[in-house]
Amino acid sequence: MFLAIPNAIISAIPILLFGLYLSLPGWHRAITPWAFGVTEVAPDIYSDAPERGAEFERMVAKAKTNAEKFFKTTRTKPIYIFCTKKPCHESFGKFPSGLAIGFHRVLIAPSGIKQNIVNHEQIHMELHRYVNSGNFLQPRFPAWFDEGLAEHLSGQPRFFAQVSSKSKTDVQSAITFGDWNGLVRRKGPAYAYSAAQSLVTNIMRQTGRDGMLEIIQTTNSRGEFMRALPDIALNRTRF
Ligand SMILES: [Zn+2]
Repeated sequence: MFLAIPNAIISAIPILLFGLYLSLPGWHRAITPWAFGVTEVAPDIYSDAPERGAEFERMVAKAKTNAEKFFKTTRTKPIYIFCTKKPCHESFGKFPSGLAIGFHRVLIAPSGIKQNIVNHEQIHMELHRYVNSGNFLQPRFPAWFDEGLAEHLSGQPRFFAQVSSKSKTDVQSAITFGDWNGLVRRKGPAYAYSAAQSLVTNIMRQTGRDGMLEIIQTTNSRGEFMRALPDIALNRTRF
């Protein structure tokens, strides 16, 4: 049997989807921030606090300069959204202090208006420039590396927890962002971020900053990337 769907219903679907896009709070709203109560307060910077535009512009400029110390040049041109108040934060889906989406959008929560957090998110942006859509399900860089690098280069780590060889092994199982969020839920952010940062610090001690950048730029898959990392820093043995 074949079920005929009236044309009127089919043609209503895009309108319904558009209605959902407009009405449901969430970070997807960062695609068109201007439609959700924030205004452009400086070039590529949106906020619910127009009077703080110059301050946010300085923070983003500093974060770019900081990222360039490692990445040499800025390859991204993300749009930043700074929420200074609860309604804005809720409208964009009550995200954590900072949220990096691809290499296109950065959301900053009221609790995240700090230089080290903006620095952290900008590092994500520049690293994600080396990721393509094919890496969505098979991340080219494991989530623990993405977070560890952002913390390591942020200039001021947010979390301090005792790092053990067990915690360093644990975080290495966080490959996708689903894995990472699961680990943060189970063990807490201090455990996860401190261990990831410590691993990246160990790697950099072995490779140097230029060596690390070369690995990021030249490896084409996660397998290749993982093989290029120094064994000693990951506490792994190869047979
Ligand atoms: Zn992060």
